[in-house]
Amino acid sequence: MTETATVLDESAGEALQVLRRVFGYDAFRGQQADIIDTVVAGGDALVLMPTGGGKSLCYQIPALVRSGVGVVISPLIALMQDQVDALTALGVRAGFLNSTQDFEQRREVEQAFLAGELDLLYLAPERLRVEATVRLLDQGKIALFAIDEAHCVSQWGHDFRPDYLMLSELHERWPDVPRIALTATATEATHQEIATRLKLADAKHFVASFDRPNIQYRIVSKDSPQRQLLDLLRTEHAGDAGIVYCLSRNSVEKTAEFLTKNGIEALPYHAGLDNRTRAANQARFLREDGLVVVATIAFGMGIDKPDVRFVAHLDLPKSVEGYYQETGRAGRDGLPSTAWLAYGLQDVVQQRKMIDTSEGDLSHRRRLSAHLDAMLALCETVQCRRSQLLAYFGQHGDPCANCDTCLTPPESWDGTIPAQKLLSTVYRLQHERGQKFGAGQLIDILLGKETEKVKQFRHEQLTVFGIGTELTDSEWRGVVRQLLAQRLLTVEGDYGTLVLTEESGEVLSRRREVMMRREPERVGRSSRSSGSKKKAAADLSPEAAPVFERLRTWRAGVAKEQGVPAYVIFHDATLRQIATDLPSTLAELGKISGVGENKLAKYGESLLEALVGE
Ligand code: ADP
Ligand code: ZN
Repeated sequence: MTETATVLDESAGEALQVLRRVFGYDAFRGQQADIIDTVVAGGDALVLMPTGGGKSLCYQIPALVRSGVGVVISPLIALMQDQVDALTALGVRAGFLNSTQDFEQRREVEQAFLAGELDLLYLAPERLRVEATVRLLDQGKIALFAIDEAHCVSQWGHDFRPDYLMLSELHERWPDVPRIALTATATEATHQEIATRLKLADAKHFVASFDRPNIQYRIVSKDSPQRQLLDLLRTEHAGDAGIVYCLSRNSVEKTAEFLTKNGIEALPYHAGLDNRTRAANQARFLREDGLVVVATIAFGMGIDKPDVRFVAHLDLPKSVEGYYQETGRAGRDGLPSTAWLAYGLQDVVQQRKMIDTSEGDLSHRRRLSAHLDAMLALCETVQCRRSQLLAYFGQHGDPCANCDTCLTPPESWDGTIPAQKLLSTVYRLQHERGQKFGAGQLIDILLGKETEKVKQFRHEQLTVFGIGTELTDSEWRGVVRQLLAQRLLTVEGDYGTLVLTEESGEVLSRRREVMMRREPERVGRSSRSSGSKKKAAADLSPEAAPVFERLRTWRAGVAKEQGVPAYVIFHDATLRQIATDLPSTLAELGKISGVGENKLAKYGESLLEALVGE
């Protein structure tokens, strides 16, 4: 019996024993215990749980408790090796089958499967199209099917994979094998679609809260986005790992260059790079501590790096769902993290234009518009961001005290008069002159600026010329942005020209008030305790902080030696606990959360030595 086994409560259920012995955790979280019981007993389950909620254990533990092999269907081929490495470090026998392997590698895994030498087998969905794979599965004993990233079955979602549709056949072919489908996508529509398409009629549904309390949501108004980003990273996230999302490949490249030039190592990731470069950049991000990836949305699904400390958006996401998924990649380990978005007038203009010119029928464009409207409403709200985000997913949340609007409440003000001035400028140009212009010219007219372009079109002769000097240029941009967000103004054509909507008339004829949001001066900073301190080391005592750094260095060495990501060895949260508790024996070390039997045996001695240091 190993030393950790002595702390086990013999009366605990088998699942709980596995949790403690293999994973080194004390207790189940949230609905994990119920979900695991359901599957262990042979029932089907449909699990909606946010990223970081602990979905993996929900199928890994039943696979260990039930006899046979747990077969995990996952679309994330590039991550399978890491997943298998992480399980191997825990002493779990795992393998995968996908297109990256040669014949010999595949045969080895197949034989291990047939010999009953695997606990978990990861499969890409397209493997099931191959009859040989199906026959292989028939010859072994299957403990369960886990369908990871189950929202990929949804034809309306952005991650749709046609091969997922075939997964409905699992039930017909193996009616006695329990199935568990899991996703971090939270909308009711996707939920129902998964249940129907995967034929999970008898499954028990588990819907967790989608709140991610450790993520601080902040949406700031954009002026010079790269500078604002640099400022954020320097003051709050020095040395932290994070993801920066941009809309275009070009801005991905430029932003990565800009950060690197300013001393923050940043790697680009987008569909225009060749496969090798992309895979290499992803691997470095996962393996090294404190790297930044600048990416288009093609990056990040399924990445289980637990210590991503910030997700920054330099462009407006197209939907609340996308925004939630992308920001959700921060802070899987539960430690404080930041979701930061810079948003401005140009974003609204650009996205409305993109929708207008997008392919697809009217109903498709309507759907895109509705998604954008919800995203804009989130950006312009004066209420708690988190409550609004949860409300979008049909869940309730009280004001959170950990988002920008809670920390520094923005004021709302009556913008009816400026709105009327702006809309009537658009009206006059259109009706008196037959002209349409973008925001810049409208604002110059209102401010009474005699620019070349104003003189060229004799706009100084308009009655509205110079009637808007009570607001600054940037305040006017805010007004235009909010009118666009509220659909009181819209974009037309390729040049971002602004035109009235059906509702504009209500404002012009004083039948409708327009409430606006005033940007607070500086957001969020005051809430920070730590200035430029690294997030990962934040909140540690002055004695523990250097110990934590020493342990991280030790971990980096071990990870490099074994060619696995650092978090496969131990998570930050575990190292922090060790740095605080300073265990001096293997038995004490074994009591720390995240130190299971296998890791204790494998790394225990070496870690204790590193802890004593020089
Ligand atoms: P998901 O797949 O839902 O995004 P993971 O399965 O990766 O989440 O779990 C997120 C993190 O929480 C991981 O670091 C995992 O080890 C940890 N975790 C999961 N369940 C528990 C638990 N019961 N006790 C402690 N840590 C847990
Ligand atoms: Zn809030």
